[in-house]
Parts: sequence; C-alpha cells; structure tokens
Amino acid sequence: MAGPKSLFVPGPTNVPEAVRKAIDIPMEDHRAPDLPAFTLPLFADLKKVFKTDTGQVFLFPASGTGGWEAAITNTLNPGDKVLASRFGQFSHLWIDLCQRLGLDVQVVDCVWGTGIPVDQFGAILAADSDHEIKAVLATQNETATGVQSDIAALRRAMDEAQHPALLYVDGVSSIGSVDFRMDEWGVDLAVSGSQKGFMLPAGLAILAASQKALEVSASAQMHRCYFDFKDMIATNATGYFPYTPPMTLLRGLRASIDVMLDEGLDNIFARHRFLAEGVRCAVAAWGLELCAKGPEWHSDTVSAIMVPKGYDANEVISRAYHRYGLSLGAGLSQMAGKLFRIGHLGDLNELMLISAIAGAEMAMQDVGIPIVAGSGVAAAETFYRENGEHLLMAAQ
Ligand SMILES: *Cc1c(COP(=O)(O)O)cnc(C)c1O
Repeated sequence: MAGPKSLFVPGPTNVPEAVRKAIDIPMEDHRAPDLPAFTLPLFADLKKVFKTDTGQVFLFPASGTGGWEAAITNTLNPGDKVLASRFGQFSHLWIDLCQRLGLDVQVVDCVWGTGIPVDQFGAILAADSDHEIKAVLATQNETATGVQSDIAALRRAMDEAQHPALLYVDGVSSIGSVDFRMDEWGVDLAVSGSQKGFMLPAGLAILAASQKALEVSASAQMHRCYFDFKDMIATNATGYFPYTPPMTLLRGLRASIDVMLDEGLDNIFARHRFLAEGVRCAVAAWGLELCAKGPEWHSDTVSAIMVPKGYDANEVISRAYHRYGLSLGAGLSQMAGKLFRIGHLGDLNELMLISAIAGAEMAMQDVGIPIVAGSGVAAAETFYRENGEHLLMAAQ
C-alpha cells in the first residue's frame, strides 16, 4: 500500500518530526564530562510536566509496567495492604502485578466503563481506623475502556477520611495529555511511559515520587535492585545513571518536552479535549455507544467504541488494517470483540483524526455494520469547524 500507515492505537503514538530527528544521532558516551549539562535541566523540565516542585523524577529503561514495579517495590513492604479498583485491563494488570509481588490487595470490582469509585474508596478508608491500608492505587485513564477518573476528587476523599495512605497514580495514557497536578493533588507516586503522551518510542518508564514517598522508600523492605530509587537518586544528583541509560530516548525526551512546553500544557489539554469531542460526535452520529458509561467518565485520550450485538469488533480492526492501513486498538479481556478503540493522544490534529474516523467508518460498513456512509466524518467536521476557531484563539 502506498503512503504511510495510520497509527491510531492509544500508544505507541505518532512521534513528531523534531523528536524523531533528535533520536537519530550517532551513539554517544553516557559518562561524558558534559552529560550533566544535558541531564540536569532535563530532570528539571520533566518536573514541569508532572507539575511538581518538591517531587523527584525518575527515568528507568523500561515500559510503563516497569514504572509500576519501581513505584511499588521502592515504597512498600511484603504483605502490605493496598486498595485498588478494577474496571479494565490496565487497572486489572496493576492489581495482578501487586499480587504477584506479594501484596495484599483489597480489590473493588467496578463495571467496565466506569472508573474509580471515589465515594466507596472514601468509606473504606474512613473505616480503616488502624490505617492498615498503605497505598491507594488509581488508574487515571483506563486505556482499555476509554474511562477517565477524577484524581482530585480521590485526593479530597482521602483527606476527608484523614487517611495517611500513599496515593499512586497510573498516568501512562494521561500525563502530558490531560490535566495532572502532582503537588496540588498530593500524588505520591506518578507513573508514565514514553510511548503515549510523551510521543516517543517505548522504552522509558517515566516516574515521579513525592518527598513523603522518598521518606518511606528509605525503609521499605520489598526486594528491588535494578529499579532501586536509592542508586538512581545518588547518580542522578550528579547528572549520571547507575547503569547505561538509553541516550537516544533521553535526547528524544528533551525534544518532546520542548515540543510540549512550547505548545503549553493547558493548550495541549484543550486540544485533546477538542479532538476527543469530535470523535464522540462521530460515534453519536453512527448511532453507536462508547464503553464509558457517561460523560463523567469520557476519556480525552482514547475512545472505546462498542459495535452492535452480533458483530465482531476484531473484524472491523482487521479490515481497517488490511484494507486501509489503519491501526485501531482492540478490545481487551472481557471487551475482546465487543469494541474497537481510536487513540487520540499525542501529536495529532483534526485532519488526522478525520482520516481515522473515515477509516473506521469504511471498515464498519465493509463488515456489514449498518451505519450511514459519511455520517461520522460529517459530524466530526461540523464539530471541528464550529469549535476550532475558539480553541486557536484561546491558544494565542
Ligand atoms: C499502556 C498502559 C500501561 C502499560 O504500559 P506499558 O508501557 O505497555 O508497560 C499501563 N497503564 C495504562 C493506563 C496504559 O495505558
């Protein structure tokens, strides 16, 4: 097939040209005398993306899952009780990781399509008067179902319960794309990865830890070596790493942070909201439903679209890929075959999304799903035409 393929999975995302060029460099010495002049400002600017002044950032060569493992093993003790909710494949996998690492996870199962049950968490924490729960795990954006949860509200519920548990946020598909405020929301461990909102290839776990988390980590007893904060803190302080860092990804991260700060975080968040709204207009015009059970759960980085009963979403995905060169996200676990996902995060604009909507629309018609040709594209066009101007003005 001529022309580029279209990548609309919710990670990896498109890499901006400036970032791709920054990565395409000769190999360099990771112990060079001038490396700190590059790394120290990089750490400082990364903190701006997490919105933390007091926290410490970490860059581990790993994917986001490695970031989870680092956050957990550095701050907890074997057998510790942690509170988590499960409402999609990623929140499930985080629970699974905790259980396999020997933690006692109190799981609140929620309907897939909803998110963090803030009131229920508040009640559980208020009832935990002995403070046995050491950690609250929150998946800000459940990528499998396109559900965004309210982390600020969760922090308020924890404060109202006067509970001292640490707050851990999985922000792999949200940080750098939708609002996230580490210090203001009292987040203790924030986990992300390079291949989603940071618009890089996979390979970096990007974390931030609060001072409270760092204090706890000094005596936390879970086994860790490769991911030990202590070694990373000691070497990062001088601008170096405890082992060979992926220099190309660090150069790429420098470029991607520049791209992000240049656009401005608030403008990035507004753009993601705007692009997502256009996709939601298309879904409504198709007469289909999102997996997210209501507007309060709508994700601005990924839409999970339910196909009508009797149809197989995997056929849509396969058709879109083979016939139109369009990659859509699949339904995972209990959502397999029931939905397909359009990722709308990272380096994207309206025309790119309209092409994804068109591709999904054609693939759905090809497999017999009764939607009106052009209906989704028309709805998205109308939304983008009528609302884009305001967005551009606000961004100036
Ligand atoms: C992608 C993703 C992960 C897993 O990240 P990997 O980089 O694949 O390890 C975890 N949580 C969420 C919410 C994600 O979107």
